[in-house]
Amino acid sequence: MAETGEAPRTVILTVDDDPGVSRAVARDLRRRYGGTHRVVRAETAASALDALNEMKLRGDLVAVILADYRMPQMNGIEFLEQAMDVYPGARRVLLTAYADTGAAIDAINVVDLDHYLLKPWDPPEEKLYPVVDDLLETWLASDHRPVPETRVVGHRWSAHSSEVREFLARNQVPYRWYPSDEPEGQRLLAAAGEDGMRLPLVITPDGEALVEPDGTELASRVGLATTPSADFYDLVVIGGGPAGLGAAVYGASEGLRTVLVERTATGGQAGQSSRIENYLGFPDGVSGAQLTERARRQAARFGAEMLTAREVTALEVNGPSRTVRFADGSAIAAHTVILATGVSYRQLDAPGVAELTGRGVYYGSALTEAAGCAGKDVYIVGGANSAGQAAVYLARGARSVTILVRAASLTRSMSHYLVQQIADLPGIAVRTATEVVEAHGTDHLEQITLRDTGTGRTERVDAQWLFVFIGAAPLTDWLEGVVTRDGRGFVVAGPDLSPGGQPPAGWPLDRAPYHLETSVPGVFVAGDARSESAKRVASAVGEGAMAVMLVHRYLERL
Ligand SMILES: Cc1cc2nc3c(=O)[nH]c(=O)nc-3n(C[C@H](O)[C@H](O)[C@H](O)COP(=O)(O)OP(=O)(O)OC[C@H]3O[C@@H](n4cnc5c(N)ncnc54)[C@H](O)[C@@H]3O)c2cc1C
Repeated sequence: MAETGEAPRTVILTVDDDPGVSRAVARDLRRRYGGTHRVVRAETAASALDALNEMKLRGDLVAVILADYRMPQMNGIEFLEQAMDVYPGARRVLLTAYADTGAAIDAINVVDLDHYLLKPWDPPEEKLYPVVDDLLETWLASDHRPVPETRVVGHRWSAHSSEVREFLARNQVPYRWYPSDEPEGQRLLAAAGEDGMRLPLVITPDGEALVEPDGTELASRVGLATTPSADFYDLVVIGGGPAGLGAAVYGASEGLRTVLVERTATGGQAGQSSRIENYLGFPDGVSGAQLTERARRQAARFGAEMLTAREVTALEVNGPSRTVRFADGSAIAAHTVILATGVSYRQLDAPGVAELTGRGVYYGSALTEAAGCAGKDVYIVGGANSAGQAAVYLARGARSVTILVRAASLTRSMSHYLVQQIADLPGIAVRTATEVVEAHGTDHLEQITLRDTGTGRTERVDAQWLFVFIGAAPLTDWLEGVVTRDGRGFVVAGPDLSPGGQPPAGWPLDRAPYHLETSVPGVFVAGDARSESAKRVASAVGEGAMAVMLVHRYLERL
């Protein structure tokens, strides 16, 4: 390993087994960044990893890692995968020959690659520096210091403990979990002066103890923004799923003062998907968490403000101003609003289920709870793709997974590729014509009663884990009397508002509503919350972007 440049600053590391190329990359990097960064070069993946480990121990910061793809012993993707364990925040670039671009594209998913550079990169002013400049800027903008951990002490079968863990996981806040009945959990409770009656206890990285915190308190103490920085914006986006994040990225990147308001965690339903297989540009699929993290970073980089754990409970129209009111009564106003509130899981209506939710019965939280069901028998209710994805995901660790579905087969409700995957996995069984009619348990779920919908016969089976995916409904009652909704609560927009060619009742303008515009001018809807929408990640993102284009058109005529 060789080092160039004396300044003991942040590090740019490059590894290439061809000494000539390795020297050339380091020379080009040094020429531009030598004054501000330390450029470290290595000629084998092993020595580069040694260098990274050494730097880690010394407490150095590594901003960018550039690795050649074709290296003996370990290729660039394998190297970057290991480098990520040491410096997860460093930006990653793969150097490839034209023939290897396929591998580089795969690496985008495997190691969350930021960029691949085709060799040769001459002139560096055009091909190398803009890429590295951009990555350094992103790295600087992100919090790259070692992340101090949040600690959660709770009861394994407590609904509130489970909610807190899910909230932290979905907001990508690293935390460590301590069951309250184990020694370390008890030590932490004692240190906080708690006897374990009020759980969960959350200890922030600063050592502050929060007892039974609500979402907003938790969000603000673990570093998530909850308070708007202004009281008037060009655009308020309500909902932080794919549609809302899409709108925030396009709104902010096109110069609109944009704020996004999310009541739980960004990512929405997509954030809970273990693998989205059909989103354009990810041939090997992408996890919802990864897609969310990238979109969040992108929106922040363009300057969108993002508020977490803030629920919008009212929309008021005051002349040209649109006021968005929060659950605590405070409000912000804007020229325009995009409703991107998606849909929420429908609840399973059977005795015992509500009481045991969070204590063995879960809605869509399969990813957070997966570790707990390792080696256990798991039941999943539902026959659509979300149930199928959860089954495939949980089957990796669970002893058995049983999908319970009312219909006679999965083929009508689930995508063909998932039905195929389920058929190929020996750990998954499908019980058709079956419904859950009761859940039993005191502290946590112990048994469920199943009913054969054909014969009516019931059977009580042991079950500690039940995941429910039985469809979803929009939660839009707070919009009652403000915007037009269809019979199921979805928001009606554009041409659907004027089926006979007549503008909707009370429409005040001499033009018809734009495509995604609701019955209130300047209020748009995007994604799953829209009546007749496609219920797909790609279409939600697309509608978010399109709504911003219509916001511009609206503002031009304001
Ligand atoms: C498990 C699962 C797997 C899926 N897999 C796929 C797949 O593989 N491919 C695919 O194309 N689609 C998939 N889908 C569907 C896809 O995720 C949705 O179509 C997409 O997420 C819709 O995006 P959205 O932004 O419109 O709404 P949502 O994702 O529902 O996001 C809406 C957001 O708004 C927030 N919100 C709601 N009301 C308020 C309020 N009053 N105040 C503040 N915030 C509010 C919610 O908390 C939520 O975060 C999957 C869905 C699930 C549940």
